[in-house]
Amino acid sequence: MCLGGGCELALACDWRVASTDKSTKIGLPETQLGILPAWGGSVRLPRLIGLPQALGIILTGKQLVAAQAQKTGLVDDVAHPEYLVAAARRQLARGKRPTPSPSGLMNSALLRPLVVRRARREVLAKTRGHYPAPLKALDAAVGALGQPLESALAIEKAAFLSLVQTPECHSLMSIFFLQERAKKLKAAAADGAARPVQRVAVIGAGVMGAGIAQWTSARGYPTLLKDVAPEALAKGLKSAEKIVQDGVKRKKLTPAEATAALDRITPVHTDVPLAGVDLVIEAAVEKLELKQKIFAQLEQRAGPRTILATNTSALSIDAIAGGLADPTRVVGIHFFNPVHRMQLVEIVRGPRTSPAALDTALSFVKAIGKLPVLVQDSPGFLVNRILLPYMVESVRLFNEGVDVPRLDRIMLDFGMPMGPLRLTDEVGLDVAQHVAVDLQNRLAKPVPINDTLAQMIAKGWLGKKTGTGFYVFPKEKGAKESPNGGLAFLQAGGKGRAQDDATLRDRMVLVMVNEAARCLEEGVVAAPEDVDFGMIFGTGWAPFRGGPLRYADTRGVADVVAQLQKLQTEVAPYFEPCAKLRHMAQSQARFYPSR
Ligand code: NAD
Repeated sequence: MCLGGGCELALACDWRVASTDKSTKIGLPETQLGILPAWGGSVRLPRLIGLPQALGIILTGKQLVAAQAQKTGLVDDVAHPEYLVAAARRQLARGKRPTPSPSGLMNSALLRPLVVRRARREVLAKTRGHYPAPLKALDAAVGALGQPLESALAIEKAAFLSLVQTPECHSLMSIFFLQERAKKLKAAAADGAARPVQRVAVIGAGVMGAGIAQWTSARGYPTLLKDVAPEALAKGLKSAEKIVQDGVKRKKLTPAEATAALDRITPVHTDVPLAGVDLVIEAAVEKLELKQKIFAQLEQRAGPRTILATNTSALSIDAIAGGLADPTRVVGIHFFNPVHRMQLVEIVRGPRTSPAALDTALSFVKAIGKLPVLVQDSPGFLVNRILLPYMVESVRLFNEGVDVPRLDRIMLDFGMPMGPLRLTDEVGLDVAQHVAVDLQNRLAKPVPINDTLAQMIAKGWLGKKTGTGFYVFPKEKGAKESPNGGLAFLQAGGKGRAQDDATLRDRMVLVMVNEAARCLEEGVVAAPEDVDFGMIFGTGWAPFRGGPLRYADTRGVADVVAQLQKLQTEVAPYFEPCAKLRHMAQSQARFYPSR
């Protein structure tokens, strides 16, 4: 790891040599924490590799592998770990590095306004102005160019001191610590009960199964991938191969490593013995009876100590384990889609899940580099339970007559990575409807669904996968989607009541806050940190706000409750704040200690 301060220390040297080891990561991630590189990184990197490339690293916080760093000029040579010292000696033999000229072509004052304008535009397009750090870093890096080192470093320092005071910085720092917390997560009563995992089997080679097999094999686990349909297996292997090849293109993997990773996947479409497998992850179709049948077979074929996990998004772990002689070996390992991108994994503990099953799942998820959150076996677990009411509420608002782009724009402005209706298109209307109906039937106080999605599904509008949903997705590559012009019949009530943006935003955000508080109230997760961590890493929930419960604290729980009660009276009873929120408001409590 040569990130942040480590990278800045290296930048202060004459020459840099990087190890080709896979663990090498080089970069300046400070802006992601709401600050900027202030040990000389904002000053020295532009002088070394030119302003445009340096901004590409500083403003995004991206992490480079050795080969990428060499390509940009950030390091002078790369070497296998064994030859690092020899490579370093070669650099030393070149003598002192000539002082890099701050006025090289890429830093020329003539080009500078152009580079700055473009960088600012890109930052604003990505952040919608919510994140002060990249803009400050841009100003500092540009302001420091051409200055003597001392005054350049003073510019960087002043920018750091102003950023470190901001609420955005506090929220982003708290996310960093949530991430560190997840890496060290332990299950209290199960700690130390994990069984070693050397071989993995994945059942079902669809979107999720193929993604999981790709991930486990790339992390060194021989993985059996089983599907009943040979075509599904072929498709699954192809998608795994594509992800691995993308890794090669981005120099994250060598071609040899890519081949080795794919070779670790053994595809099968017949029933094979699973006695040598330590962990099975089932990712077949989301149907309870089918999963129960699969688990009954798994119990026969697997060894007595094999842990049986399911990737179900919504079904009860306990019901899946129901018919087994030993239901204690069943646990949920719920990955998110796409597996290679999403860091969060929900570890679902059924009422009968054994400490060994729980701790094996937890240790394995950490070992493959994912970030776990421990959740109880309950409808929608954590992330979907909180996200769904928001998606349902956005559909209700649309049905009341609010335009699709307006609803999505309001939530983008709030800081979500994608508007809720665009997200519904992405997830698939059928999938969203399936989960919404399931939650409607199983939760005591759901946001009621209406027939909007059902009517769209009946027309074959399933969202992005069919080309039409709330938006129309053109076939041409790179073309942007546009709102579906044929939706008016679903807004029969006309334009409904006039609602300002703030009310619309509150309707969508506060249903999530309410549900998040209920998850704590019911013990779905143990702590507010789990909720905020899950929502940020599982859905991209406005990171600068620190998650739904930190948002409630920032806004004031009493204010959240007052607004929910107002919506309860003026809009619908389901906005009623949960008991936990009401009690907290009464006693002026917070989810987190005040800073
Ligand atoms: P999918 O339809 O893409 O794939 C399911 C695969 O299971 C198919 O290839 C099918 O042939 C195979 N299959 C069916 N019966 C089987 C059997 N008896 N043995 C072996 N294979 C069998 O589904 P998916 O989207 O990959 O979802 C799989 C599971 O993951 C579901 O439980 C789903 O709820 C869950 N999940 C899905 C997502 C998502 O976004 N798609 C996210 C998280 C979890």
